[in-house]
Amino acid sequence: MAATHFERLTIIGCGLIGSSIARMARRQGVAGEIVVTDLSGPVRERAIALNLADRVTADIAEGVDGADLVIFAVPVLAMAAAMSAAASHLRPGAIITDVGSVKGSVTEALSTGAPQGVFVIPGHPIAGTEFSGPDAGFAELFVGRWTILTPLVCDDPDYAEALARLTAFWLALGAQVEVMDAPHHDLVLAVTSHLPHLIAYNIIGTAADLEGVTEGEVMKYAAGGFRDFTRIAASDPTMWRDIFVDNKDAVLEVLGRFTEDLQALQRAIRWGEADKLHELFTRTREIRRGVIDLGQDSPESNFGRDRDRL
Ligand code: NAP
Repeated sequence: MAATHFERLTIIGCGLIGSSIARMARRQGVAGEIVVTDLSGPVRERAIALNLADRVTADIAEGVDGADLVIFAVPVLAMAAAMSAAASHLRPGAIITDVGSVKGSVTEALSTGAPQGVFVIPGHPIAGTEFSGPDAGFAELFVGRWTILTPLVCDDPDYAEALARLTAFWLALGAQVEVMDAPHHDLVLAVTSHLPHLIAYNIIGTAADLEGVTEGEVMKYAAGGFRDFTRIAASDPTMWRDIFVDNKDAVLEVLGRFTEDLQALQRAIRWGEADKLHELFTRTREIRRGVIDLGQDSPESNFGRDRDRL
């Protein structure tokens, strides 16, 4: 049996991420049976209509029964409730993972809620869009993107084997895999994803408030920069509410640093320090080139869709 083959894969939550996993897992033949569970009736109906799984159910316990790989793909604040619904039916030896955008709190929720004898290995695919739901998913979402796994500290050789199997699963979905600890993940993502989203939400909120002053011209003359921010600020409100509630400490830490840097920029503008501004803008342009060189933002890796890393 191939290392990537699972007898039964159960995905809890069939939104953008869960449905994308289901699509690629089926295409790659990495599971004998794919089961999807979702609390939402309309989502289940769409999962059936889109033929995303062999079985679709509202009952999480029934859905995870007999599964050797279970993926929690619900908003981060819903992970604990989903685990508590699943726990009594998880099969010994099953690999339990998730796709949540915050790892500290989700690791706590999954590892304290899981029964003895299963292998909890939290994870986060750094791939997504601003859209939600099963219709928004697509098989190639993870291709060429990183999935970060944040395994528990454990020297059990069986746990190491489970980690190798989960790594092989993500590689089969086209992802690249990196392993790090949960606090480091949360700090890195606070910088690369959570802070940029917070800034986008804030800019759009400020612009909307200023509409009265500008007589509606902000929206009418939305230029490149503002338009790009509106796309990020259209991201799912539930998901992002949960991320900021859950990753509070890391976000506040990077927000403090960002505020200091912004004040330095304000000062440079006030005192006409043109060289300082030019130096920063030159440095940031180099960073953009570095991102493109690493293949993390190129037309080829986008499959014609708007993707960013969340
Ligand atoms: P989504 O499209 O909104 O899908 C989440 C699905 O989970 C919805 O159908 C939701 O149903 C369902 N759900 C909520 N609570 C549930 C529960 N207790 N049991 C079963 N189903 C439940 O969200 P998503 O974008 O796929 O995000 C899912 C996870 O992936 C989140 O943890 C997020 O942090 C992470 N993530 C997202 C992205 C991204 O770009 N979107 C990228 C990487 C990781 P209702 O609609 O009825 O609530």
